[in-house]
Amino acid sequence: MNIHEYQGKEIFRKYGVPTPRGIAAFSVPEAVKAANELGGKVWVVKAQIHAGGRGKGGGVKVAKSIAEVEQYAKQLLGMTLITHQTGPAGKLVKRLYIEEGADIKKELYVAMVVDRVTQRATLMASSEGGMDIEEVAHNTPEKIHRVAIDPGTGLKDAEAEGIARKIGVPEGSVAQARDLLKNFYKVFDEEDCSLAEINPLIVTGDGKVIALDAKLNFDSNALYRHKDVVAYRDLDEEDAAEIEASKFDLTYISLDGNIGCLVNGAGLAMATMDTIKLYGGSPANFLDVGGGATAEKVTEAFKIMLKNPEVKAILVNIFGGIMKCDTIANGVVTAAKQVALKVPLVVRLEGTNVELGKQILKDSGLPIISASNMGDAAEKAVAAAKGK
Ligand code: ADP
Ligand code: MG
Repeated sequence: MNIHEYQGKEIFRKYGVPTPRGIAAFSVPEAVKAANELGGKVWVVKAQIHAGGRGKGGGVKVAKSIAEVEQYAKQLLGMTLITHQTGPAGKLVKRLYIEEGADIKKELYVAMVVDRVTQRATLMASSEGGMDIEEVAHNTPEKIHRVAIDPGTGLKDAEAEGIARKIGVPEGSVAQARDLLKNFYKVFDEEDCSLAEINPLIVTGDGKVIALDAKLNFDSNALYRHKDVVAYRDLDEEDAAEIEASKFDLTYISLDGNIGCLVNGAGLAMATMDTIKLYGGSPANFLDVGGGATAEKVTEAFKIMLKNPEVKAILVNIFGGIMKCDTIANGVVTAAKQVALKVPLVVRLEGTNVELGKQILKDSGLPIISASNMGDAAEKAVAAAKGK
């Protein structure tokens, strides 16, 4: 799950990661009020969308008067902001963050992720912060420093100070940077983040170290223990099909191909998508109906897949272990009848009660294309999607 920059900064402040002062605004009058409340001479009006690259895309504006704050708020609210992270469709701006203007002397980069090789939370840092970190990573990877963090000790003083010096924090600000980095690690660890990024982390003219941006992604499997994080969820930013699927406890991710996939088990779902690719096709979604799928759940899954106008064929691939093949076959038949299925449906069943399941499909009278194994199923689905 993702949250907005201003929400991320609220979390940062709780953990002692310094940020500029700022106030969220949902309308032009609110933006003006926020700027007046903040006071000062320079404000930054920042579009809040779940994507980075806002600066380059025109979503971050520096205002030198309240009138300018008003003008930029008008311009940004309701605009479709396109950045290198939004895709060509862009994202509609519905929220703003009005922040005091910072006196930037240096823009640095820090981020935390779990490194699968070392199996540890890893701090990444670079002197080359700001808006082009992707290019730095690509052209001069040696400018990105890493520390794998021991979960028993957390980020150590010496490690934090070492990294701060490597990325060019001036000596007088190293102690501040150390504390900030240690608190940043605590955010990542205690809030169960899958990614945390501060780009840029700045050093100000008077030597203060401050998080000027905040990007936090959370591990969905841990959200049950973070009610306050869940409260930050902004459904406007999420895929409508994925929201619908989550209501029925279906794990669904929209993709850009044309073969709808209905599978039980995440591993089998991944393998199914790979197999479709192998036969030259492209999946329209990842969908794991789980181990205990009922006919109702399967019906909902069909409805969600078919809302996507790109879907030209559906591939059902079920391994009946705990779930019996006849249960799933009944679900498929009910669903196909209820949604008046118009695209070809390829079904591959294997496992418990497979013969009974196949019989149910046969007796249904539906034009189901039956497949004998995964390769056969993918090949048939790819052909069906091409209208063959
Ligand atoms: P994004 O990463 O989406 O482009 P950022 O929050 O990083 O958005 O802002 C982009 C750039 O705008 C920053 O690199 C910084 O130069 C400038 N900026 C952002 N917030 C402020 C601020 N409060 N004061 C001064 N400059 C800012
Ligand atoms: Mg940024």
